[in-house]
Amino acid sequence: MFLKLAVIATLCCTNALANFTSYEGYKVYEFTAENTTQQKTLENLAQNNAYDFFTLPRIFGLPIRVLVAPADQLQFQQTLETSQIAYTTVNENFGQSVEVERKLNSMYPKQRNSAPGSISFNVYQRYDAITAYLEELSKTYSSRVKVTSIGDSYEKRQLHAITITNGDGVANKNVILMDAGIHAREWIAPAAALYVIQQLVENYEQNSHLLANYDWIIVPLINPDGYEYSHTRDRLWRKTRKPVTIFCDGTDGNRNFDFHWGEIATSSHACASTFSGSSAFSEPETQALRDLMHSLSGRAKFYLSLHSFGNYLLYPWGYTSELPENWRDIDDIARAGATAIKTATGTDYTVGSTSNVLYPASGGSLDYALAKAKIPVPMVMELPSAGQQFDPPLSKIEELAFETWIGIKAIAEKIIEKYKLVDEEN
Ligand SMILES: [Zn+2]
Repeated sequence: MFLKLAVIATLCCTNALANFTSYEGYKVYEFTAENTTQQKTLENLAQNNAYDFFTLPRIFGLPIRVLVAPADQLQFQQTLETSQIAYTTVNENFGQSVEVERKLNSMYPKQRNSAPGSISFNVYQRYDAITAYLEELSKTYSSRVKVTSIGDSYEKRQLHAITITNGDGVANKNVILMDAGIHAREWIAPAAALYVIQQLVENYEQNSHLLANYDWIIVPLINPDGYEYSHTRDRLWRKTRKPVTIFCDGTDGNRNFDFHWGEIATSSHACASTFSGSSAFSEPETQALRDLMHSLSGRAKFYLSLHSFGNYLLYPWGYTSELPENWRDIDDIARAGATAIKTATGTDYTVGSTSNVLYPASGGSLDYALAKAKIPVPMVMELPSAGQQFDPPLSKIEELAFETWIGIKAIAEKIIEKYKLVDEEN
């Protein structure tokens, strides 16, 4: 499927609407693996680029979703039936859902749909709106907010990082580092990052305890080229946009980091959605994030990368099923987030190492943050999808962003408590 999409993307032309990749007739199937044999079958199927596995957890009984093109559906269903995997079709026509979402999202002519200096969560905001919001915050709250560019994307969009402080002027505080949107199609992730920014800046009084001894540095859209492309051309675009071959563009940013790069569950085929890149750090976006991480060496205590979907709080390692030395600490902190969310909204999050609960994957920013940038507590949060589509419907964005904030806040409070104790002991 990705080869086909890439060809469409490379060869076509001027009319943006006409070029929007159609998923007409594509179905989304949902099922679970109940034993090792079924799991193996599914892992084999996932190797086939014809099937787009949105999720493939390794824990039996958790939902798995796959998008399948019309021509491949019969064979796919037969394979499931042969393996006695009971499935349901959660979306009969993914193309129609994409079209509905696209129309709704473009109904707001100015996107922002809010007063200057704030931002609304009733649409998925575009790059220009996000940029304008960040710049307005830096002007309105100049004593507490600074917006910098940490580099340019391949298509020369600035990669913005917002530094949020309590304005007391104390330098070199501990840092909480966040990014979102390395996977372009996971639109709820940048939305949730913007919500965190809004809470820390516009709702400062209620959250000042989170900024007393910590600065927050947030990159709400680390892959803006891919994100814009997923809005204008192909809803399921995941990668960056730098061309690789004459047929295929883009690298999976979250397989492009130089730690066990290219080893496991990544692809060396340029057309694949998990292409690890022509070399480690081949992409300007991952280089910028790497440099930001290293510039915060010793200060950054917590790194959080936002993704979707599937309700997971994940920690290293991705490249092996072994666990890092301090996994108990990280696990404890992650569970504080999961518990806070469960208490607030009833949503269940699964907590564990990437490789053990979701799937092995090497070259990710999570492993790099711990192993190379020495950030002691790194996590990935896979946000819920709230329905049939890849991302929550527009009406659910704010609700989910709020729920995510509850979890992040609880995790941050736990981090602050933990390192206060460590500092006191030293
Ligand atoms: Zn992702």
